[in-house]
Amino acid sequence: MTQVLHEPSIVTRSVTMQAAVVTEFGKPLQMREVEVPSPGFGEALVELEASGICHTDLHAAHGDWPAKPKLPVVPGHEGIGTVVAVGEGVRDLVVGDKVGNAWLWSACGGCEYCRTGRENLCESQRNGGYSVNGSFGAYMLVNADYAVRIPDGADVLEIAPILCAGVTVYKGLKVSEARPGHWVAISGLGGLGHVAVQYARAMGMRVVAVDVDAQKLALAKRLGAEVVVDAKHVDVVEAVQRATGGVHAVLVTAVHPEAFGQAIGFARRGGTIVLVGLPPGEFAAPIFDIVLRGLTIRGSIVGTRQDMVEALDFYTCGLVKPRVTRAHLDEINDILAEMEDGRVQGRVVIDYRTPYRAAIGG
Ligand code: NAD
Ligand code: ZN
Ligand code: ZN
Repeated sequence: MTQVLHEPSIVTRSVTMQAAVVTEFGKPLQMREVEVPSPGFGEALVELEASGICHTDLHAAHGDWPAKPKLPVVPGHEGIGTVVAVGEGVRDLVVGDKVGNAWLWSACGGCEYCRTGRENLCESQRNGGYSVNGSFGAYMLVNADYAVRIPDGADVLEIAPILCAGVTVYKGLKVSEARPGHWVAISGLGGLGHVAVQYARAMGMRVVAVDVDAQKLALAKRLGAEVVVDAKHVDVVEAVQRATGGVHAVLVTAVHPEAFGQAIGFARRGGTIVLVGLPPGEFAAPIFDIVLRGLTIRGSIVGTRQDMVEALDFYTCGLVKPRVTRAHLDEINDILAEMEDGRVQGRVVIDYRTPYRAAIGG
């Protein structure tokens, strides 16, 4: 494609936008008028149409993790919109293209991890809505080489959760090494988990779904889980073992450390437990059990650009369909509070295309 250089002339210092900003950890996000950023070398400016709200955004706002974002920061890494300006040095992206940001906002491209197809492990990576401002504002920047190309005709609200939830669980299932016909336990059926059930089914796996919320279990059942287990009311390890004889793989997306310890008990001999959820805390790993049963415990962090292309293809082919509720950016603190209480079903997605009142209840 020919290189197209656009002067980012519409973006001047005086142009501002509404954004939800973390100014202090543990405090509500502040709705602020901030400057619309100008795209630097290799970057593009995107006018937002939709953005999913991930539990990671809540961790960011709380400062939950050892590596904290520098404040102030605009969270959001499931953003989709239209390119309105491109900086110098941008190839393959022009004004009018539909793109998204992602957690893997950029990587160095030259380190051992980047060279060996593991750019999601790059130590010099930048992260959308964490080390770079994200999609909780009217505009955001993307790195043209790492921006997510959104397939033509996609429903932006529905496809937005694929940009983090989708790619993360798809990658997690791939590294679980579960095969068609194998049993997989999905622990945690929120934004990530409810799409994980669908990816696992589409990949030919049998699903046992675990959560502490009856409504989420009911959704997992509708999405194809053969067995659902309410971790609040039964001995969850015994229930999973009884139903499946032990699963070949577990994907833990839950936001409580207790679920991580339990997951070890779900696996059959030789099984793999993939940790994806990131609640602050620790869990006990029983040495004897892990050694004698030949278990593998591994972490998995989002996915590469190629994983993203594949994860989006599942959506485009109709194999996965995130369950989304529309909201407006103004409602962000209420939504994060609901998420903290475990009351969000599926994914809440901010709709930037409609005025406030029209967005409510969508
Ligand atoms: P969510 O709030 O939508 O869902 C969390 C789910 O965990 C809820 O359904 C809740 O009921 C369930 N849960 C809570 N306690 C449980 C328990 N004891 N047992 C079973 N289920 C339990 O959150 P989300 O957006 O799906 O994110 C989940 C986690 O994954 C977060 O910690 C997030 O930061 C992390 N995450 C990791 C990656 C990665 O690349 N590794 C990517 C995205 C998100
Ligand atoms: Zn996320
Ligand atoms: Zn690198």
